[in-house]
Amino acid sequence: MADGAVIDSPPEADSPGPEISGELLAACVHCGFCVPVCPTWDILREENDSPRGRLYLMRAEADGRVDPQGAFAVHIGRCLGCRACESVCPAGVEYGHLLEQARARIPPRPEARRRERWLLAALTDPRPARITYAVARFIRASGLAAGLGRRLPGTVGRMLRLLAATRPTPALERPPAEPGADTTDPESGDGESYVLLEGCVMDGLFGHVHTAARRTLAMAGYREIRAPGQACCGALHAHAGLLVQARAMARANIEAFERADCDWIVTDSAGCGAGLKDYPAWLADEPEWKERAEAIASRVRDVTEILATAMKTSGDSARFPGGATTLQGRVGYDAPCHLHHGQRIQSEPLEILRSVRGLEVEELPSADRCCGGAGLYSLAHPDLAIAVRAPKLAEAQQGAYDWIATGNPGCIMYIGAGLLWSGDRTPVVHPIELVDRAWS
Ligand code: SF4
Ligand code: SF4
Repeated sequence: MADGAVIDSPPEADSPGPEISGELLAACVHCGFCVPVCPTWDILREENDSPRGRLYLMRAEADGRVDPQGAFAVHIGRCLGCRACESVCPAGVEYGHLLEQARARIPPRPEARRRERWLLAALTDPRPARITYAVARFIRASGLAAGLGRRLPGTVGRMLRLLAATRPTPALERPPAEPGADTTDPESGDGESYVLLEGCVMDGLFGHVHTAARRTLAMAGYREIRAPGQACCGALHAHAGLLVQARAMARANIEAFERADCDWIVTDSAGCGAGLKDYPAWLADEPEWKERAEAIASRVRDVTEILATAMKTSGDSARFPGGATTLQGRVGYDAPCHLHHGQRIQSEPLEILRSVRGLEVEELPSADRCCGGAGLYSLAHPDLAIAVRAPKLAEAQQGAYDWIATGNPGCIMYIGAGLLWSGDRTPVVHPIELVDRAWS
């Protein structure tokens, strides 16, 4: 975010959002197919904590039959936003968009809003975020995050463990290239061009994942174009119901990507990719911006998606040196919800991992279920998040994997934090880090 756009909060950001779309709500036929796949229903066994129950609440709020501050706020607030309900819905209910609209209807309690504003600004506003991430990287490098995180309970311990889980894995660092042997300059070459969404948390704490993405894309023949003026994607704001700020970030990014004039916009964060692809829905009431958002969204690709597609369509196996692997071991793959359900990208991460001959790749049995991280959810609802995560941690430990791989920063952090707390040292990494190391 070194040159990221600064988005000031307009005064209307504190007003309740527009009414929940009756048209989107009308799609639900109340069949209940979505209920058993919902992690919060699975734990709480309460209809209002299922997708169908939440949709009933949204309808009641839209009709003025419930107060948005009472049970509505509680049950809508407990939703993970994992969108597993969308994947099984036979009626095509756009639950994710409805959830964002519903959250925007909840009047913020002043104290909660202040806390949320402070946290979001610290993570996503380029000026304070620069300091936040510099301090965080220092704490991480000093070993304090892992050392204290293993011992401290409570919120501070939770935050330290999340931070510790962002550390680069030493075994995946590439050996230094021989002088003159590095052919992976991301900005050289004459292949198709791309802009990498730099993002906020990804840029601040996952620079090693960005580096791996850039190197593998360069080896696959893509050429990077820088896009100054990028902002945070806005997904964290949209999930919190702060749609005014999310839209401002979307407009800043659309302008930056249009100026860059690239073939593709690539992300290495599932949550950000889903956010970028949702820009047309966020800007649905602004026809000119919606059209521009659609043009951008049609060119957004997850890094695993663009590489898997290139592997399938390229006859030139030299571009994809999977056979010349320097990496051996067992990988347990967990699918980020915003990749698997939000973008329906399901086979591609497995395809690129399995292209590396030395890797034995398995999906975790609960790979398509939420890990409980869900953006800032694990800090707002720690007990529920821990209960959602528990089966996945057990699977990760029973599998005796060398790595757990998942393509979203929040999932890397939350699964990694859980393993650290339980004394398990299995690294949780992005799939592209494994591919990058194997191709070196
Ligand atoms: S959201 Fe879809 S699956 Fe769930 S009750 Fe409504 S129509 Fe059925
Ligand atoms: S988004 Fe996830 S947690 Fe929320 S209702 Fe749907 S399945 Fe349940």
